[in-house]
Amino acid sequence: METIVVTGAATGIGASTAERWKAGGHRVIGVGLADCEANADLSEPGGRARAVSEILDLAGGVVDGHAACAGLSRNSGDERKIIAVNFFGAFEPLLALRKALSRGDRPGVALVSSSGMLRPWGVPGALKACLEMDEPGALEAVAADPRADGPFAQRPAYATSKSALGPMARRLAWQTEWTGAGITINVVAPGVTKTPTTDVDFATPEGEQRLLKAAPSPMNRIAEADEAADPVAYFAEGRARFVTGQVVFVDGGLDARRRPDDP
Ligand code: NAD
Repeated sequence: METIVVTGAATGIGASTAERWKAGGHRVIGVGLADCEANADLSEPGGRARAVSEILDLAGGVVDGHAACAGLSRNSGDERKIIAVNFFGAFEPLLALRKALSRGDRPGVALVSSSGMLRPWGVPGALKACLEMDEPGALEAVAADPRADGPFAQRPAYATSKSALGPMARRLAWQTEWTGAGITINVVAPGVTKTPTTDVDFATPEGEQRLLKAAPSPMNRIAEADEAADPVAYFAEGRARFVTGQVVFVDGGLDARRRPDDP
């Protein structure tokens, strides 16, 4: 039986990922604000440290897979908190769990980004600070950006946090301490997906229009949570043994339409 950690396991894509592993007989250590095996607030360093300590206790020091699904959406209000949860809440626990993953069987990591990662609204200074794991610097740079109080679609924290996940994964993926232990690290970038996060937007016609305008799927529908969870589970279960450092879009063709000429 494999032990797999899922952050954001209580709802949405994280819950769907956790359910499929439980159904497959794996042991899931869910991490979240409530109703999880390890309840902790990933928006602050103390909460992340508590989560890691509980995970290591529950897992007996061996973790076979890790899916970082916890995240805040663009409309959750607090720009600093969005960076803190979406980027540092993903990477700080992952870095602390590297040794436990290195003892695992076919260890894999999947980090959940967003098709919004390609929008040009990130803050370069905050992106750089994220890649240096400088949390105070990243929070400060985002809060100082004038768009932090500006139009919904252009608020910078979400784009920054989600676009920093890919480069950070690529920086780690080929390092000996990860490859030497056979740990693969990949990023999954969903388009609009039906979860409690988007239920809030779909509750009003304006919200729905705003969301579908920001990420219009060529398939003319939004994804179900299990369609986004499929590749997350695949990578975190370590089923793609020679694939690492990649970003996979789960967006009904949106990325292909946006960048048709990219090699
Ligand atoms: P969701 O709200 O159902 O899931 C997010 C989870 O993160 C929740 O369970 C929540 O409790 C947890 N979380 C939030 N703040 C936390 C904190 N401080 N500490 C610990 N846990 C915290 O929404 P979802 O759509 O399933 O989101 C999952 C991931 O997918 C997120 O990273 C989100 O950014 C990403 N995503 C979602 C969509 C979409 O359209 N739904 C699109 C692109 C990316």
